[in-house]
Amino acid sequence: MGNKISILIPVYNEEKTLHMLYERLKRVSEKMDYDFEFLFINDGSKDRSLDIMRELRQKDSRVSYLNLSRNYGKEIAMAAGFDYVVGDAIIIMDADLQDPPELIPRMVSYWEEGYDDVYAKRRNRAGESWFKKKTSYWFYRILKKLSKIEIQEDTGDFRLLSRRAVEAIKKIKEHHRYTKGFFSWIGFNKKEILFDREPRAAGKTKWNYYKLLELAVEGIISFSAAPLRISTVIGFMIAMFSFIYMIYVIMKTLLFGDPVAGYPSLVSLILFLSGIQFIILGVIGEYLGRVFNETKNRPLYFAEEYNNKKIM
Ligand code: UDP
Ligand code: MG
Repeated sequence: MGNKISILIPVYNEEKTLHMLYERLKRVSEKMDYDFEFLFINDGSKDRSLDIMRELRQKDSRVSYLNLSRNYGKEIAMAAGFDYVVGDAIIIMDADLQDPPELIPRMVSYWEEGYDDVYAKRRNRAGESWFKKKTSYWFYRILKKLSKIEIQEDTGDFRLLSRRAVEAIKKIKEHHRYTKGFFSWIGFNKKEILFDREPRAAGKTKWNYYKLLELAVEGIISFSAAPLRISTVIGFMIAMFSFIYMIYVIMKTLLFGDPVAGYPSLVSLILFLSGIQFIILGVIGEYLGRVFNETKNRPLYFAEEYNNKKIM
């Protein structure tokens, strides 16, 4: 076990919170007997975030920053961070102070005990809507049922990872990334700590419901083939039902003659079944699209600048 702790912070338009975050990190680090690295990943911010990172680095050499070539999204920003981070333990943290830096000493003490993944579970979520809490509650339950791996409920990306856990995640080169699933997938010793999630310190969330839905679909599809199987089961059930119905119609015709069958029932049945077919095609398409994207095998991201040095 070494003695350098890295804080990895993906940043997208957080000019309002960066100074505050740095001050709080600094205060926490002063109380601890470790070397620190504060690595900011600038994920294509359009505000002054990058300038602030440069300023901070001038004041304090423990600050590092990586400037990505555009906005790639938090999942890719974290992947870039794993490539550049140098610490023996790595703590992932949001820039908006929803993840309190004051939890760091507790995380580190569990790491000293030998845990590889000390994750912070939300006891409550102040400042988030009832609807967001409910949808997130149900998402975790469904995901757990569908995928075979244990994904921690009500837990964000806020956690400490040991060096070997980070090395493991770096080997995962997938483009469609549901990083929270990776943390579970790699295994190793996990430890839970509870905390109260605060509302954003300033600025606004980059998530809307469409993006959250996208991430939810990502989570399910990259960790489970169950939707494909469910399609098969639905197909079987419909086929069985219609077979029984067919026997019934044949018997009825043989026994009682053949009165004109109902046109509306026929049309609604056709519409219903073609609806189901489209849904199933869509499910197949979701998987196929991912196969397509992964086979292109593009690099995950491009970076422009690392600590004042241009990347060629
Ligand atoms: N973030 C990022 N790239 C993006 C969107 C967000 O690096 O495209 C960062 C953002 O700066 C923050 C973290 O990811 O540090 C979480 O974002 P946010 O607070 O908007 O999400 P929420 O906490 O509302 O789920
Ligand atoms: Mg946030």
